[in-house]
Amino acid sequence: TTGTCTGYTDRTGAFHAFGDVAAEQQVRADDRGHVFHSWSAQAQINPLPIAAGEGSTFWDYDGNAYLDFSSQLVNLNLGHQHPDLVRAIQEQAGRLATIQPSMANDVRGELARRIAEVAPGDLNSVFFTNGGADANENAVRMARRYTGKHKVLSMYRSYHGNTNTAIALTGDPRRWANQPYADGGVVHFFGPYPYRSEFHSDSPEQEAQRALEHLEHVIALEGPATIAGILIETVVGTNGVLVPPPGYLHGVRELCDKYGIVYIADEVMVGFGRIGEWFAVDAYGVVPDLITFAKGVNSGYVPLGGVIISDAIAHFFDDVSFQGGLTYSGHPLACAAGVATFEVFERDGILEHVRDLGARVVEPTLNGWLATHPSVGDVRGQGLFWALELVRDRETHEPLVPFNASGADAAPMNEVAAACKAAGVWPFTHFNRMHVAPPLVITEDELRRGLDAYDAALTVADRYAS
Ligand code: PLP
Repeated sequence: TTGTCTGYTDRTGAFHAFGDVAAEQQVRADDRGHVFHSWSAQAQINPLPIAAGEGSTFWDYDGNAYLDFSSQLVNLNLGHQHPDLVRAIQEQAGRLATIQPSMANDVRGELARRIAEVAPGDLNSVFFTNGGADANENAVRMARRYTGKHKVLSMYRSYHGNTNTAIALTGDPRRWANQPYADGGVVHFFGPYPYRSEFHSDSPEQEAQRALEHLEHVIALEGPATIAGILIETVVGTNGVLVPPPGYLHGVRELCDKYGIVYIADEVMVGFGRIGEWFAVDAYGVVPDLITFAKGVNSGYVPLGGVIISDAIAHFFDDVSFQGGLTYSGHPLACAAGVATFEVFERDGILEHVRDLGARVVEPTLNGWLATHPSVGDVRGQGLFWALELVRDRETHEPLVPFNASGADAAPMNEVAAACKAAGVWPFTHFNRMHVAPPLVITEDELRRGLDAYDAALTVADRYAS
């Protein structure tokens, strides 16, 4: 679509050619004057005003096109302005815009049924939320009520959301600022990470085995009788696209069964096709007790998330009230977009498309860069979910920028990101990593163009690498 877009429509429907300086200035003035942004010091941010989006591309007010290699926040699985999703929302708004959660309607029920049909094992019931953090909050609440226990184990190097329990569960360094106020009852452990192993392992198999021994040790020390749940991202997302090594998730399942612990899979980022499966656990043949989802369920067109619940846990609540509820749970506009998402996935073969592009285009290209770019230390991923870990020294694995760098320390990564943007690709960068996470509807030509831009940007990183 790049190049076909010549302007944008404002909220009254009037068309404007790109380059309307006054319109852009108004957006910037309103934003900087009154929008309080997340995750940054307010004085340091300068958000890019976006005028239009279509498919895998969005445009700023000057008409610069960006191929979105980060799918916004890895949520825009079906791309911008997908006609089926837009139409579903418009039609739903025209017939019943909202109902409260204790009533039933057709799209909410149909979406729950369709999710249950593709969910693994006996996960047949869906509790809807507004997003991913509150899905994790409610999953933990279910696990605690179901087991009568209170602690929850989650990984260092994880992101589970930014509400109170979700940020306590999060093992990303960004949580530390919130830590004095965060909920208790959370214990962190080390997950597998072969490239920077905590366990001095020599192979992914050994990493899995040692990480499981460590987890069992943590369970023993904390006391199995106190542990309600283990919450893990099936493929760790923001903290590095850490693909679980062979046997690891099976081992987690076995430990949960052995000690009466609820296995909660956080699939907020990887669910709904990101790695070419409905749910990432499907790739590993593992059935958790609860799966949390959000983002890809409807590409974030209207906020939606939820918990998919096993029959055993759902039936526990047959005679026990589940004390969780949100005014907008299962919002009809969001659910209509969710049902449309299923229709598009099935009609257009989205899962097959993701698997094909991942295996045929992304995997060989990124692995090829190990030979051509001294700054590429590690390549990890599956489907359309990949990370390149950038280093100064491939022997020592010294990262391109220091851990959790900011200011001048972060300059090399900022230069890499700037090179991508100058080439018309919006990258996902975090710490010393570049992620490849485009919309799942991306075409092969678009994907190759974005990868070419990453390839060129890596020469910027190479200057720092020995
Ligand atoms: N869990 C994971 C794995 C995520 O990646 C995210 C968001 O990035 C969340 C939970 C939180 O989701 P939300 O921002 O919708 O609350």
